[in-house]
Amino acid sequence: MRKLELHWQILIGMLLGLVFGFVMTYPDWGREFVQDWINPFGNIFVKLLKLIAIPLILASLVKGISDLKDISKFRKIGFRTMGIYVVTTVVAISLGLILVNIMQPGNGISEETITKLTETYATDTAVTSKLEEASKQRERPLGFIEDMVPDNVFGALSDNKLMLQVIFFTVFLGISMLLIGEERAKPLKHFFDALNYVVLKMVDLIMLTAPYAVFALLANVVASSGDPDLLYALLRYAGVVVLGLFLMIVFYTIVVATYTKKNPFWFLKQISPAQLLAFSTSSSAATLPVTMERVEEHIGVDKEVSSFVLPVGATINMDGTSLYQGVAAVFIAQALAHDMTLGDQLTIVLTALLASIGSAAVPGAGMVMLVIVLESIGFPADKLAIGLALIFAVDRPLDMCRTVINVTGDATVSMVVAKSVGKLGDPKVEDWDDYYEEVK
Ligand code: ASP
Repeated sequence: MRKLELHWQILIGMLLGLVFGFVMTYPDWGREFVQDWINPFGNIFVKLLKLIAIPLILASLVKGISDLKDISKFRKIGFRTMGIYVVTTVVAISLGLILVNIMQPGNGISEETITKLTETYATDTAVTSKLEEASKQRERPLGFIEDMVPDNVFGALSDNKLMLQVIFFTVFLGISMLLIGEERAKPLKHFFDALNYVVLKMVDLIMLTAPYAVFALLANVVASSGDPDLLYALLRYAGVVVLGLFLMIVFYTIVVATYTKKNPFWFLKQISPAQLLAFSTSSSAATLPVTMERVEEHIGVDKEVSSFVLPVGATINMDGTSLYQGVAAVFIAQALAHDMTLGDQLTIVLTALLASIGSAAVPGAGMVMLVIVLESIGFPADKLAIGLALIFAVDRPLDMCRTVINVTGDATVSMVVAKSVGKLGDPKVEDWDDYYEEVK
């Protein structure tokens, strides 16, 4: 029997998880059962992906840079990547702002709903902790750049949140390896090449469990979700965000078709396992190993490009998050009757751009930076908790959707950069058991 393709397997796992989670909201013991007995399997899967993220960045970026024949090429890749990331993010925010201004989802929301949402969430620790986190970020305007430079390499390697520090160290190491010449760098290069192969094999092995893991992850999301009435009240706002995110996918497919001359549906099919995992985990950082594997092996982007573009993108390029921040900021202002000028909207473009760069690639991070976006347009500090409370009920499902866009955006840019430097080749897929016969 022909084996079902991976994305179908994952999709079936997701659907079964959704149904199971929904059914479990009925019995009294259902939510607790999912929490105690199902959720751990999802968590283990996410932990496994995170476990290999740092070794993968290290090995593949060193390999990518040391395969370059000259450093000027790296400069070219670096500048292009940053430039294109800024452009796609600005497109995303502008699209979000246009939609929210045309559709005005905040104007239709009743006083009663606002009161109910405020009572339910404004003092919720999940909301207050986001406000606290935002105030920490705000105190150091250049903190983001300062934090990029590690003072202890093992410290950086030991914390997944310090991905940019790892990238900084690895680029430094890779460039220095180029500078000592091929012959002297050989032992180190062989070591990292082998490590790279091993970690990619680990991705293949972990992915064997993906269909089961997404079942657990989605069952838990559904079983732990809040009052459905509040979700319905926010349907129009959520609809605007989802429409914007969908249009971003259309935008990416147009870019892929026109610039890289590849079939956009083929592109979406190849990247779909990463998208489905982004949706299930709400974390572009956890999805990164799979994104890298798909882009390199299934799409044919050379490691010289993907090894830099993708890890950097996972942390700084968040098109979905920035679109959401634009929509959410204006929605909150509309709902709470806070007047906004055109200048305020332009300020949102700038701050949401910076906020998406500064957002961590983990669930719920976009909401923290939303606080900073709101403050930049003079939103009163005492109403911030109410503002966040308004959108909190639908934040998790929207987080899942925007993470898909974050990951797709990174993959698209990696193709564009690869094409522009002549590094978009043919796919060469590896399976977990390619060498199994030799060791059986
Ligand atoms: N969860 C998103 C990500 O990891 C970030 C966010 O928008 O909250 O890409």
